[in-house]
Amino acid sequence: MFDVQKVRAQFPILSQTVNGKPLVYFDNGATAQKPQVVIDAISKYYSEINANIHRGVHTLSQLATDAYEVSRNTIQAHLNAKYNHEIVFTSGTTQGINLVASGFAAFVKEGDEVMVSALEHHSNIVPWQFLCEKTGAKLVVIPMNEKGELIISEFDKLLSDKTKIVAVNHISNALGTVNPVKYIVAKAHEVGAAVLIDGAQATPHLRPDVQDLDCDFYVFSGHKVCGPTGTGILYGKESWLNQLPPYMGGGEMIKEVTFEKTTYADLPHKFEAGTPNIAGGIVLGTAINYMNGIGFDNIARYEQELLDYGTKRLLEIEGLKIYGTSEHKASVISFNIEGIHPYDIGTIIDKLGVAVRTGHHCAQPIMNYFNIPGTIRASFAFYNTKEEIDIFVEAVKKAQMMLS
Ligand SMILES: *Cc1c(COP(=O)(O)O)cnc(C)c1O
Repeated sequence: MFDVQKVRAQFPILSQTVNGKPLVYFDNGATAQKPQVVIDAISKYYSEINANIHRGVHTLSQLATDAYEVSRNTIQAHLNAKYNHEIVFTSGTTQGINLVASGFAAFVKEGDEVMVSALEHHSNIVPWQFLCEKTGAKLVVIPMNEKGELIISEFDKLLSDKTKIVAVNHISNALGTVNPVKYIVAKAHEVGAAVLIDGAQATPHLRPDVQDLDCDFYVFSGHKVCGPTGTGILYGKESWLNQLPPYMGGGEMIKEVTFEKTTYADLPHKFEAGTPNIAGGIVLGTAINYMNGIGFDNIARYEQELLDYGTKRLLEIEGLKIYGTSEHKASVISFNIEGIHPYDIGTIIDKLGVAVRTGHHCAQPIMNYFNIPGTIRASFAFYNTKEEIDIFVEAVKKAQMMLS
């Protein structure tokens, strides 16, 4: 049985007060809090095995290397990737997307098309714009509807043999929409296009199966799955990673270097130049094990309850509008209150101990679509409670009263 109080006790930060009030942390879409096992694992690494990896013959270096590779295997199993060399450690989702977009210049030429969706985070837009500027390819956008869902019939029409890659998120960070990524992959493959899925917002809520999705690339950030900041994963199909040129040059990514010619290391090291975030990479495995210990079925079921309850309670507030009303939604509620700037609500409820995100959520095209400057976004994690939702709703009501 899932016991939220037992889970909460594992997160030291959740028992803190902020501005003299108990912390209600509803900014999980920006970053997740860390359980004690993750905090302890970082300390243990630096206290007991700190050494550089893949280069020393000495004992600590081997211990560190082993722990790093065990973490890679943990993540391979978690994503159900076919090979462990399809798992590349990165600094986060942003770096993973930039790595692929930069390398894709080798496969894209003038007149080709690169497709993103209207629901993307800036980090899944701008790297593709770089690619288009560099190659003369055209950026094509899958449109969305009023509910914040992708218009799939339009996607079908936009696809053609000019499409070289489609980059979409699995779940929208701004609206919570769950996108039909499996369908998108299957359709894109029919025209020979590759697909990159931005899983930054999905991995905290579900366990992706990359072989079942059949995606070519899947990226996510460690810090959103209870892991350390500055960590992330790029999954790529072996055949794509073999074709893709390296992103950064340096130590560890080479086979042989002479001034005439350098040959690259085998996967995944070809993409892991320099000393990585060793502690972070190891502890990302700890975080993934922790999440699997809670169980993604439990997480999904419980978060759905929070989403339903939060939606119902917020809709009691007069003049409140929720953006993102897709049937398939993660536990993210984006909203505004008539006549009040989101920033003002965020500032007042912070004084009451409630942490939410306000603004455009790095997704300005979505805000432009709705013709709003931004929203207030409450994003729930499995360690949040209905009692916290009550405190939050009362805080929003109080802010509304003060501001109108
Ligand atoms: C957070 C997020 C990103 C960026 O992740 P970083 O950890 O900042 O690199 C990209 N896409 C989505 C959907 C996100 O939620």
